[in-house]
Amino acid sequence: MKHDFIKSVYEDFSQLSGILMSAINSVKDIFYILEVIEDEYIYLFTNNAGKSHLIVEEDLVGKSIFDLLTPEKAHFLERYYEKCYKKNKIVTFSDEVEIDNQQRIYESVLTPVQFKEHFLIVTVVRDVTDYSKKITELKHSKDLLEKNDQRLLSLVEQNEDGIFMLDTDGYFLESNEATTNIIGYTPLELIGKNIVHFLPRNEISNITQHLISAIESENVKFETKIYHKNGDELSIELKFVPIYINDNVIGVYGIAKDISKEKLILEKLKKANNQLESFIKYNSDAIIIMNLEKKIEIVNQAFTNIFDYTDEEVLEQDNPTIPDWLKKDSDSLYDEAFKGNIVKDLHVKRQKKNGELLDISITLSPIFDEFGEVIAITNILRDITESKKNEVEINTIKSELELVWEYSTDGIFMIAHDGEIMKTNPAFNNMFLYDQCEKITLSDIYLNKQIMQTNEFLRHLREEKAFIQFETSRRRKDGSTIQVLATYRRVNKGKTLAIATYKDITNEKQLIHELSRNQMKYMKFLDASPIPLFIIDGEIITYLNKAAQHLIKVKKRSFIVGKPVKEILHPSERENGIFQTSSKSLPSIYKFMNLEDEIIYAETTTATIREKGKKSTIVMLRDVTTKLRSEQALRESEERFRIIAENSKSIVKIITPKGKVTYCSSSIEEILGIPLWMEMGKSIYSNIHEDDLLLLEDVLEKVRKLKTPIDIEIRHLHREGSALWLDSQFVPLFDESGEVEKIMVISDDISELKQKESKLKKMAFYDYLTGLPNRRLFEQQLQQAMVTSDKTGKHTTLFVLDGDKFKNINDTLGHDIGDKVIIEFANRLQYSLRSKDTISRIGGDEFTVVIPEINDLEEVKIIAERILKNIAETMYINGNEINITASIGIACYPSDTKDIDQLFKIADNNLYRSKDLGGNTYTMV
Ligand code: GH3
Ligand code: MG
Repeated sequence: MKHDFIKSVYEDFSQLSGILMSAINSVKDIFYILEVIEDEYIYLFTNNAGKSHLIVEEDLVGKSIFDLLTPEKAHFLERYYEKCYKKNKIVTFSDEVEIDNQQRIYESVLTPVQFKEHFLIVTVVRDVTDYSKKITELKHSKDLLEKNDQRLLSLVEQNEDGIFMLDTDGYFLESNEATTNIIGYTPLELIGKNIVHFLPRNEISNITQHLISAIESENVKFETKIYHKNGDELSIELKFVPIYINDNVIGVYGIAKDISKEKLILEKLKKANNQLESFIKYNSDAIIIMNLEKKIEIVNQAFTNIFDYTDEEVLEQDNPTIPDWLKKDSDSLYDEAFKGNIVKDLHVKRQKKNGELLDISITLSPIFDEFGEVIAITNILRDITESKKNEVEINTIKSELELVWEYSTDGIFMIAHDGEIMKTNPAFNNMFLYDQCEKITLSDIYLNKQIMQTNEFLRHLREEKAFIQFETSRRRKDGSTIQVLATYRRVNKGKTLAIATYKDITNEKQLIHELSRNQMKYMKFLDASPIPLFIIDGEIITYLNKAAQHLIKVKKRSFIVGKPVKEILHPSERENGIFQTSSKSLPSIYKFMNLEDEIIYAETTTATIREKGKKSTIVMLRDVTTKLRSEQALRESEERFRIIAENSKSIVKIITPKGKVTYCSSSIEEILGIPLWMEMGKSIYSNIHEDDLLLLEDVLEKVRKLKTPIDIEIRHLHREGSALWLDSQFVPLFDESGEVEKIMVISDDISELKQKESKLKKMAFYDYLTGLPNRRLFEQQLQQAMVTSDKTGKHTTLFVLDGDKFKNINDTLGHDIGDKVIIEFANRLQYSLRSKDTISRIGGDEFTVVIPEINDLEEVKIIAERILKNIAETMYINGNEINITASIGIACYPSDTKDIDQLFKIADNNLYRSKDLGGNTYTMV
């Protein structure tokens, strides 16, 4: 019975289009449709994802959740299905399922649907494990953020160093992003794990010992190894700093710096240095270093190779390679270089030992001493005798190609976009019996019927075929007709649509042979050249030789030929446009990319060649990558410092030992309002508070002498004049010989802290409850009044007041009301007195009053009675009627005593006497 029911519903579903079904079946999310029958939840449909999720082989249609699932799981689901069914509303929940030993999180959405007379629940289940993980991670980092003081956190977070916290057993409590950058583990992966898990076996005892030292409250710094998540072993510099809370070490901060890279950079720099040495030693260009007297100081091996002079023969001598007749010219070149200018790539003649003349490209560069004076000149001489010869050969080939145009037996001509003939070669004019300079038009050579088809043919050439070849007839000047093999090639350059050749069919084969032979010769020469070179036509590479193929690491030339030259240029060069195409350019350095995406720096020389009136550019390269790399390594480390300084909230300055600012980070603008340009080159003293100038002088002196960092608090001046407290750390930077070369000053704004400090000071002198001065301030004021009395001869009296049975109020109405009574007590006392009288609260319900300038002791009695009367008036506090009285003890200066302690004692004794009398009274001696 139940079954038939279900079947009919199922058939209704089957009517859904096949497309919809296969769509539902192909999604990753799980779909179920269940029907509620007699409080049971029966499966009607599931998509493929659902089947594999439930891991059931059999058909689940008609089965209830209790048939298919464990009782525990079914009960879990039943609760949500019931909620969806009974409340007829969408229900969402998530649950965790263990699949293949992995905890997965699923989010399910149940939607109630009334379908005919059936009540259905459509269930969509989605795997949100990854999403939830991310949320957990996010939450975790947010908690961290809130836990830490914002400033400390940003210091930790922006720190380039990995900073993490360990408990005293070495378990991770926290870690920053830089830690993740260094060892690859996220905080989530580290927290709760012991640091020894990440160490090579032989480093464990090393770290444990340092950890113990740190816990015993010592800062320790050492080098160690640690595993990166990817398995690499990293060299790191690690510092453990104990963390104190209430004088107990509760863990340590670890500050880790990946020094693998630094070690690498050091090695690289060393290498670069070696490279520079070898650059001179092994350079294939001859290098001469010449002093101010134009005597040779250094020559390299290449010099001997090229000119046949050994170094013994030339050292301390005039340069013997300059022919006598060129001495004057070359002297003026040297003078140019001695003036500090570079003379670049000049083509000159120089002679070998045997007198043979060479074509040399010479570059002269001055060498400066530290004062900017030229002390020597480097001559780089390249033997270009060969390439000069090559140049001549290229020109020969070029003119050979021009010969083809000039003397070809083929008629060659150019066609404009409208089909008109633009330019013809002599053979063409000959072919049609026109004079050499006569202009020929289409209608001159086309037969009548052909003119009709011109438009159709041009469209064909423009849009469909770049190359068209056919045999046809043409008319000559004398009216006769000739047969030609017409070849049209679309070029689409400027005014030219195409280039066409007309060929006597009989001569065709022979001519092709001729042409290809020329081409072969040309290519063979270029291919043999050791100089990497390629030819570009417009932007397209039309040829590259073997050396270039090797340089850009391409296996087959066909991968590159036909592609735009941009593809081998570094993206940063692509904007600059293509190489200059003047007929001959001076070398300039371009950045290329080889096919393995490595950057190549190449000195590039271009030359324009013309083939059949068409311009192409030959680009010749010289790989200078290694030379530039070493320069770049230095620049990068400077850049790194700059980035750190610029992103720091602190003001980072670099100063000379005497205090001249050579670098300053832009945060000075934010903290002191001083624009960066204003600070550069100034003295560090220029914005220091005048009272702190001597302190600063002393600090600089100490840093220079002791060569250790010093940390001080010092007042800086804001541009608008106010003084700000900064915490400044002075760190000496050393030159190679260990002398202090510069000083780095890192300053942080601590004005806020200072303000807090002054508030604390205030709290030490005033009573927190009533705002009245406390005993310390009061004693100062009493002393002042006594001094004034001595001068004026008038009396000063001291009142000591205490509330009677005040404890009762606390006991019956509570401490808060008690507080309010004390405040009211103070108020009443205040308005019973003059402004020059000083009231203070000594503690609890006890007050003192100094009343100066009393002429007559009768006045004192009047004041005491006024006070007692005002205090005894009923107080109304929070709806309570409160009656309180006070007792007063009085002492007079100087009539009772001239000693301040004695004065207090007398007043206190008089207070006790008032209390003994039952309170609400005053007593004088
Ligand atoms: P006596 O007549 O002998 O002065 O009796 P007393 O109850 O006033 O007792 P005494 O002056 O010796 O003690 C003052 C009491 O005031 C003690 C303490 O319970 C209470 N007290 C002290 N400081 C405060 C305070 O800041 N707020 C409140 N509500 N009660 C205080
Ligand atoms: Mg009291």
